[in-house]
Amino acid sequence: MIYLDNAATTLITKEALDTYYNESLINFGNSSSNHQLGRNSAKELEKARTHILKQLKLDKTHNLIFTSGATEANNLALKGGAFNYKNRGNKIITSNVEHPSVSNTLKQLHNEFGFNVQEVEVNRDGYIDPLNLSKCLDKDTIIVSIMTVNNELGSINNLKEIKEVMKAYPKAYLHTDATQAVGKVKAKYEYADMISFSAHKFGGPKGIGCLVYRKNISFLPVNSGGSHEFGIRAGTVDVPSIKATDVALTSSINSISEHLNKYKEFNHMIEAYLEDNPEQFELNSSKCFPKRQYVGIINFSFKKKKASVVVEALSRRGIYVSSVSACSSKGEPISSVLLAIGKDEGLARNSLRVSFGENTTIDDVQQFINALDEVIKEVNDR
Ligand code: PMP
Repeated sequence: MIYLDNAATTLITKEALDTYYNESLINFGNSSSNHQLGRNSAKELEKARTHILKQLKLDKTHNLIFTSGATEANNLALKGGAFNYKNRGNKIITSNVEHPSVSNTLKQLHNEFGFNVQEVEVNRDGYIDPLNLSKCLDKDTIIVSIMTVNNELGSINNLKEIKEVMKAYPKAYLHTDATQAVGKVKAKYEYADMISFSAHKFGGPKGIGCLVYRKNISFLPVNSGGSHEFGIRAGTVDVPSIKATDVALTSSINSISEHLNKYKEFNHMIEAYLEDNPEQFELNSSKCFPKRQYVGIINFSFKKKKASVVVEALSRRGIYVSSVSACSSKGEPISSVLLAIGKDEGLARNSLRVSFGENTTIDDVQQFINALDEVIKEVNDR
């Protein structure tokens, strides 16, 4: 098997899995229980919370609520934040390439709750020009939600520059969906007021997410129930998975530079192959490494072939890549992200995203290129 779909999810690391196993046997008590086993779990939970914040260099300024994933963290930040601060203003600004867990949440806030949601367009490389954002900001703005790294393209937004233009509007909070960034790029998270991410994107378990938020921010709970997670996110806390998340995050943060160097080489190999075959391919992700482009993702379109047919042919060879993104590939085969960066419909319907992970080898990438070359000759034009 050659797995090149790490932006969709990653293989859990052995260390994280061992941690999950051991903690499940030792600290299986409910962290809310009022006995020693429960207190042990609660202690481990708080240790993990503090350590995760420390690794992100946010322990002095921010707090953290554990959720079931980035989807829930995004919902909590946007709905919980909007409902809590609705008396301050009615406007939320976002980009036109957000993940559905942000864009559909904002659609709901607009359609059903009357919030004024305004989209700022990204440029041709897939990131926001802060000047365009500054034109939309006004006194009515309560939240700006801009992703750190785009899940299809790998384009990177500069959080510092974005926060800079928001300075004149201190009531507006900056939320960033950092699901494709945490453990992968060195972003300046300290400039964001709310940060969402999922553990399974960096070798942690599926089903755990984090909403990191500046200490002075509060949310109306989206999950009502018991008093877990400061009364903001009710439900028994999965301490073993949270401990595993902490372990996976430590190892991924420690190896960011090493991984980026490796992925850069892989990226260049694929790019060189695409450039040799300009009649077949168009590169969608940007070449401007590394400040504005996460090199763990390369995205390109087929000029003549159907992407779904190529993905299937590669899958039959045991090579796994994505067309569009896993979250929107069913029922909506056109990429709104590619349309947003100015690609035509044919290219936007026929893209491939290759995403590397810590286990990816140079041999995997070469085998992918060889297989792609065979498949291109084998499958019919669309
Ligand atoms: N945001 C981005 C940018 C993502 O890539 C994903 C996962 N595809 C999510 C949010 C949602 O993450 P999860 O499915 O773990 O909730």
